[in-house]
Amino acid sequence: MSRVLSVPQENVATFLFDTKKMLINGEWVPSLSGNIYESINPANGEILAKIYEGDESDVDRAVRAARAAFKGEWSKTAPAERTKLLNKLADLLEQRAEEFAYLETLDGGNTITLTRHAFVPSAVAHLRYYAGWSTKLTGHTIPLTTGGNFHAYTTREPLGVCGQITPWNYPLLGTVWKLAAPLAAGNTVILKPSQQTSLTTLLLGELIIEAGFPPGVVNIVTGSGRKIGEAITNHPNIDKIGFTGSTEVGKGIMKKSADTLKKITLELGGKSPNIIFADADLDKAIQGAFLGMFTNQGQICVAGTRLYVEKAVYQQVTEKLIAMAQKMKVGNPLDPTTQMGPLISKEHLQTVKNYIEVAKKEGATVLTGGNILQEGELAAGNYLEPTILTDLEENCTVVKEEIFGPVLCIMPFENIEEVIERANATEYGLAAGVWTQNLAIAHKVSNALEAGTVWVNTYLKSDNALPFGGYKQSGIGTEMGYQGIEAYTKTKSVLISLN
Ligand code: NAD
Repeated sequence: MSRVLSVPQENVATFLFDTKKMLINGEWVPSLSGNIYESINPANGEILAKIYEGDESDVDRAVRAARAAFKGEWSKTAPAERTKLLNKLADLLEQRAEEFAYLETLDGGNTITLTRHAFVPSAVAHLRYYAGWSTKLTGHTIPLTTGGNFHAYTTREPLGVCGQITPWNYPLLGTVWKLAAPLAAGNTVILKPSQQTSLTTLLLGELIIEAGFPPGVVNIVTGSGRKIGEAITNHPNIDKIGFTGSTEVGKGIMKKSADTLKKITLELGGKSPNIIFADADLDKAIQGAFLGMFTNQGQICVAGTRLYVEKAVYQQVTEKLIAMAQKMKVGNPLDPTTQMGPLISKEHLQTVKNYIEVAKKEGATVLTGGNILQEGELAAGNYLEPTILTDLEENCTVVKEEIFGPVLCIMPFENIEEVIERANATEYGLAAGVWTQNLAIAHKVSNALEAGTVWVNTYLKSDNALPFGGYKQSGIGTEMGYQGIEAYTKTKSVLISLN
């Protein structure tokens, strides 16, 4: 019996039929080398699509197109026209939301519940938020400290060509976060999606053309980080790198972009502490800790992977979390009742599993989970049980390193000073959570935590208007809100003698 496909599913099937080309200068083109790579469905290990694999020569054509567009038509485009184009793109994405949600779930293994209700609507909202900023880029008039007969003012100008490199964990939203602010500010863009999840970015490329962006304003180059990512980093005619990904790769980008003194924004890894005090609303805290850890299979940069629980409620919190993890439905991400889908790849699954084995060797106790799921249809995909570890010291590998999978480290604490010190004892500083009903504790702890975002009595909540960025080795620079515009503009000072 043949399966009946919905219209979005049929559209996706049609989209996946041809080898996917790159978007350069408003046209879909194969890589100059003709090389192709395969994109794998993490839920079943099947080949989902074939994609042209670019190299430096393709990056170079994209840079030429982006530079020509920046100097040409795009620089003459009125701010209100940029608003219109971004809003049009948002409308088109909203109209085809179901198609994007379906494709994203096939490509990245993110559950359909997340792609449908969180990632795609958030991408639409993000485009609309930055559409509004295009017409609000202003400078200041500056009264000079030394007085005199001068008129001094500043303007904000776009940086130029931006090379935007994104990871695989929420590919469409990650791309849109790297697209909207630079375009709103008048830059041109080269998108480099993760090789593992390029498909929704490529489908978005179709909408970018349909929305009417001039050729060269947005280019998409597909391929490996080593080839495309490095070519973008090294290219002398790119002005800015916007990178989201691992700290290790981020450090390499920072070193290499020094040669051409590119501006950089780095959104990197995390090992976020989530702290539950005994006076917290425990039902909410447990729910927050659970979702903050296991959403998207734990493949979220801000995941609350180090859960510190005050001793008095440690047993109670731990038992509830174990019960919730054991009830979690792991399986086909297209099933709306599934709570956890597959990890992105077999290699990544093995990396996460190895972390669990190392933890055991270092003395950890596995409270629940820890195994790769291999029954029936799950065997072909990259499924891991939601895992909770305890009996951990601060210097254990799993407490120190980012695992990027569904592995929660739960640890008791005795007092506030101790937990602050332990929470901050990490090279990362992306996010943190605090659960308490005591206002003084909430303020004291959130002030003391070394993290770019601190959530109190909530977790994972983000907003387009709220700045986001990492402390310490979790990043450089800030995105979202007005800071997102600042990150893609430079300040010019103009001083006019009135004599
Ligand atoms: P990754 O660093 O391996 O890859 C990210 C991107 O960089 C990919 O497009 C990849 O192809 C490219 N790349 C790889 N090597 C490169 C190189 N040498 N030069 C230039 N580009 C290169 O990360 P990943 O495995 O795709 O994603 C997971 C990581 O991303 C985690 O560490 C996670 O914490 C981080 N992340 C951070 C945020 C944030 O906002 N801070 C958000 C999402 C993910």
